[in-house]
Amino acid sequence: MSIVYWFRKDLRLQDNEALNAAITLAHQTDLNTVFPVLAINTHAYQLLEGIRQHSLTEGVRALNKSLENNLSILAVSNNQELAEALVRACAEANSTEVLAMECFDPESVRSQDVVAEVLKTNGLTLRLVGSAYAVKPGTVRKPDGTNYRVYTPFYKSWVQLADVAQKPLPKLGTGFKKLSFSTVFPEPSKQSPIKVIAGEAFALRTFNRFSKRALLSYDEMRNRADLSGTSHLSHALAHGEIHPRTLLAQLGDSQAEEVFRKEIAWREFYADVLHHYPHTLNDYYEPRFKKLRYDTGKSAQERFEAWTKGETGYPMVDAGMRQLLAEGWMHNRVRMIVASFLVKDLHLEWTWGAAHFEAHLSDFDPASNSHGWQWTAGCGTDASPYYRIFNPILQGLKFDPNGDYVRKYVPELSHIKDGSIHEPWELFDGYLNGYPERLVDHNEERNESLARLEELKQIS
Ligand SMILES: Cc1cc2nc3c(=O)[nH]c(=O)nc-3n(C[C@H](O)[C@H](O)[C@H](O)COP(=O)(O)OP(=O)(O)OC[C@H]3O[C@@H](n4cnc5c(N)ncnc54)[C@H](O)[C@@H]3O)c2cc1C
Repeated sequence: MSIVYWFRKDLRLQDNEALNAAITLAHQTDLNTVFPVLAINTHAYQLLEGIRQHSLTEGVRALNKSLENNLSILAVSNNQELAEALVRACAEANSTEVLAMECFDPESVRSQDVVAEVLKTNGLTLRLVGSAYAVKPGTVRKPDGTNYRVYTPFYKSWVQLADVAQKPLPKLGTGFKKLSFSTVFPEPSKQSPIKVIAGEAFALRTFNRFSKRALLSYDEMRNRADLSGTSHLSHALAHGEIHPRTLLAQLGDSQAEEVFRKEIAWREFYADVLHHYPHTLNDYYEPRFKKLRYDTGKSAQERFEAWTKGETGYPMVDAGMRQLLAEGWMHNRVRMIVASFLVKDLHLEWTWGAAHFEAHLSDFDPASNSHGWQWTAGCGTDASPYYRIFNPILQGLKFDPNGDYVRKYVPELSHIKDGSIHEPWELFDGYLNGYPERLVDHNEERNESLARLEELKQIS
């Protein structure tokens, strides 16, 4: 007997509770062997943009290397095929159990439900252990047993419960083994605009570098788009190349470390919210906002396309959208600015923007994306009593004061050498190099947005 381990959003060996449980179980079997497998939905993979294909492929390649090339790849096109491939894996490995990390986003839950069902009908068991969080979604509760809908009280309970104890990889008897019917992981079919480096070792190096370089000034620098003041660990967290426990275990009590801990908790809060309200993946958390008047039709579509290309005429928005296309990542402050612009200046539904982010973000995470969008759109978990509308000019002047961020991504404005880059319409040479004029007037659209909010208040 041996054990089959199904890698999911946990592409790492260290601090992996579920993998450790598989190894511990293997110790109790005669062969003392684990068969690590990873399933890839080849159809879904082909639909991914280049950057997402490359980042996934690199992460899997790194995992396979750390398993000494013993990772089996199961190429499937739906959950039923995945489940059947795992049944076949159990037969070859002579295993009665598949171990895996429990996932909480709606798509992964569907997949683990189908797998559990099919395994069961074949007399086999799916055992789900741990999660990609320091506290499993669904665990943090108010004293009355209900879940939190607001971040700050969630955080106060979460921080008491957060598991920070490291789970080092135990020794494995005869090691990891590969299945005879493993296929190869697909090579990316699309180009990536940048060379992607991924994997557990890279994630640990990134965290070490961040700890030495920027952690202690994180509270002051994290909002500055022109500086590298954040960890850039979102890709690694989304793919499970590092566990939040590993990060939390190393944090002290300084103000900066506390702010970083709170950002990790935002990821956990959104996962908890999506767990309780799975429909909010694509639907409104505050249902009344469904009735807000949004623009549709040809001109709405054209404005959306200008936004996706970074051609709105607002430098901070355009720099962000072009950073996304160029790097598959965008600074958090700028994500909020571009999201606010889409919903409150262009009057488009948040779901349009979330789908574009999903296609391009190498750190795409269903909960953080849907709820990051809804928070900014005003229909999410934001507890603020007023309706936030980000001013893209003031945000630019504050968080990119010298214009370095805009100059990096918007070459048509690179001749402007200071903060006046955020208002090219005020400069005699602002449009010298073909930068597009403003698609809309922010002040007018702000008023329009507030008027539509008033309409909504009248009808709801
Ligand atoms: C509209 C919108 C969409 C977003 N979509 C995603 C997404 O698909 N995937 C994703 O990982 N993050 C998303 N975020 C959150 C945030 O922008 C990124 O996590 C962050 O920019 C990643 O950079 P970093 O790793 O350097 O972050 P750091 O500032 O170093 O933070 C450390 C970690 O904390 C978590 N975190 C930080 N801020 C947030 C936040 N506001 N919400 C949730 N988690 C947070 C992330 O896991 C991040 O890696 C979104 C935010 C907005 C406003």
